[in-house]
Parts: sequence; structure tokens; C-alpha cells
Amino acid sequence: MAGSVTITNARIFDGHAAELTEADIRIEDGRIAAIGRGLAEDGQVINAEGRVVTPGFIDNHFHAYGISLNMMQMEASRTSYVALLGARRLRRALVRGFTTVRDVAGGDIGLSRAIAEGLIEAPHYYYTGPALSQTGGHGDPRDAHLDMCCCGSHGTEVVDGVDALRVAVRERLRTGAHAIKIMASGGVVSLTDPIRIPQYSPEEISVVVEEARRRGSYVAAHAYSPESIVHAVTNGVRSIEHGNLLDRETAQLMAEREAVLVPTLVTYLAMSERGRDMGMAEVALRKNAEVLEAGKNAIELATAAGVLVGFGSDLMGELEVEQLRGLQAQHEVQGTLELLRSLTSRNAQILGVDHVGSIRPGANGDLVILADDPFTNPSALWLESERRVVVQSGIVVT
Ligand SMILES: [Zn+2]
Repeated sequence: MAGSVTITNARIFDGHAAELTEADIRIEDGRIAAIGRGLAEDGQVINAEGRVVTPGFIDNHFHAYGISLNMMQMEASRTSYVALLGARRLRRALVRGFTTVRDVAGGDIGLSRAIAEGLIEAPHYYYTGPALSQTGGHGDPRDAHLDMCCCGSHGTEVVDGVDALRVAVRERLRTGAHAIKIMASGGVVSLTDPIRIPQYSPEEISVVVEEARRRGSYVAAHAYSPESIVHAVTNGVRSIEHGNLLDRETAQLMAEREAVLVPTLVTYLAMSERGRDMGMAEVALRKNAEVLEAGKNAIELATAAGVLVGFGSDLMGELEVEQLRGLQAQHEVQGTLELLRSLTSRNAQILGVDHVGSIRPGANGDLVILADDPFTNPSALWLESERRVVVQSGIVVT
């Protein structure tokens, strides 16, 4: 699957430095072989004509199986249907420039295998499997009147108690999970849980963390409020997802514990605009309004405290088309350089993977040639354009 290509006349943002480098990039067998002038031009050549080339984008909060804003619909659909829709969601993300995604509620070894074998075109795929939720937590899709037992399977799974959680974590790690995802506070689209209240007991979170760490992995937690973030981080969670209601003190605690933040600004924007038409429940719309405005403030507080801030989209169902608009939303807080770092090298650091998110010899040949200079025209980051070229592992994505 790996390809060879030479990009000439590039202005390179390497994932880190503020200064751009003018050079050619040679990719061989899927990896960056050399950066410089006068490189071998056998095989495919793309003249960037002085345009800015960035590392392939990383979305650290993606849901391949997030096929609907209605959680019950998502969990109760046939796996074959969910997987096929998921494949389309992945391919569309790749075409937009996301050459790597971290799926933090869903995915499984079958989907991952299909990607590895080239059955479908997709970003490099890191998954947690179904997110773990307590009964009545953010991963429980039932409304309060529904009298049925519940387990979930695609995006979330309801698992209560230390022993059951230990098994669930081991099973995920046995089947290729990159990390473990838990629901540690209320959420927007779940129907019965107040958004601020922490979920899972300290003992339950601790056992998930213990099992993940022993395997060399880590835990990501869905959490909005300071009380739920404190609850997660003090019990060993590393990656805080969303974090919209973060305050200064909690940001400080995150920095001390070396926890990271993956904001997902665009999903609240998209739900506030289109959620009602897409059938979102009143209670969910109210919860969305509560976190929408605070999200940007959370990024500022985390950054000021020295917390590593990444980027995520978290778009369910048809809202997936707004993925690039997430760059616009986060740009309003961070500006071009910091956004680009969050989108590439910082997200790679959160993933703990050093061969994505940077342009340097030895790294994956994952690149985006932007249509225009994002430092003078930031919309080149989020406007779809025929002039955008996406390269993944040395293969031009078309
Ligand atoms: Zn999510």
C-alpha cells in the first residue's frame, strides 16, 4: 500500500517550527526519505508551486461508528450497516486531509483489519472500541421510561463494577485497542444524565486505569465539568475529552498530572445549528447550550496552565461534513500556528506516536498541500478546495 512520490517547491510547516522551510520532500515506500533540494524525481512528482505543505491532519476525537445523533439508533443498528457507513465516514475524513484519526468511542479489530488490508481507504486508525459507561451514564442510550436491559455495542457499552470493568478493559486490549475510553461525566446526547455530575466511582476509574497502564496504554475520559475532570484525573485518566467547563484550578491540576485536553468545539456549534432539525431531544439541546460557549475559554485556560491541547471533531451522523469547520472554530482561539501544532505534532504526542504529525525524514509520508498560505489566508485550512492535495503514506488521495 505504501507509495513513492516527490513534492517539489514546497514551503514546509514541519509540525513544530514557526519558520517554514523551502524544500522538496521525497517519500519512498510510504515514509519520508529526504527533505532538501535536487532530490530524486523518479516516479510521481507533484509541484507544490511554493504552497504550504503541512503534516497530514490528525483528528483525535473521531467516531467511525457515530452514524447518528440518536444514540439508540446507532447502538441498535446492524453491525454491517454501521461498518459500511463508518467506512464512508473514514474515507471522507481522509479526503479532507485527516490522514490519522483516533476513534474514542467505537471501532474494533475487524474495521482496523479491513483498513490495514486495504479493503477501504481510511486514515491511519487508532481505536478504543466502545466507550465504557456506567448505567445511566453518557453511554447509556435509554430514556428514563424505557424498560429494557441495555448493553450497547458499537459506540458505547454499559459496564458497571470493578470486576466487570477489568474484564472489559482486558478484552479491548486483547483485540487491539489503542487506549480505553470511559464516560466520566454527563453528556449532551444522552437523555438521563446531568452534564456536570461525575460518573463512575473512584474504584471503577482506578481499575480501568490500572489495567490500561499495565499494558502500556492509557485512559481517555469524556468529561465537561471541573468536578468530573478532577474526578477523572486524580484517578489516573490521561486524556480529557471536550473539557468545556474547565476552570483555572482544574487546568492547573491537569498540568501537574500531565493530563492532556482534546477539545471538540465544532460539534456543539453544529448541534446548536442543526440539532433540532435532526431530531435532537429538548433535553439534549439544553445541555448543548450549556457547554457551547465555554469550550473556547477551556482551551485558553488549559494553554495558560501548560496543558497539551490537541484537536478533535466528535461529529455524529450527518454533522460529519463540518469536520474542517472545526479548524475554523479552534483557529478563533489559537490562530494559525498554534492550531496547526495542535492538529499535527501535539495530537501525535497525545497519541504517543512519533511517526505521524511531523515532516521529517523517517516519518510517515502523510502530507497536506494547502490551496493557499494559511498564515495570510487562514481559511485555506478549512475551505475545501480542488487545489488541496492529500498524500497518505506516499499515495495521493483522490
Ligand atoms: Zn465523542
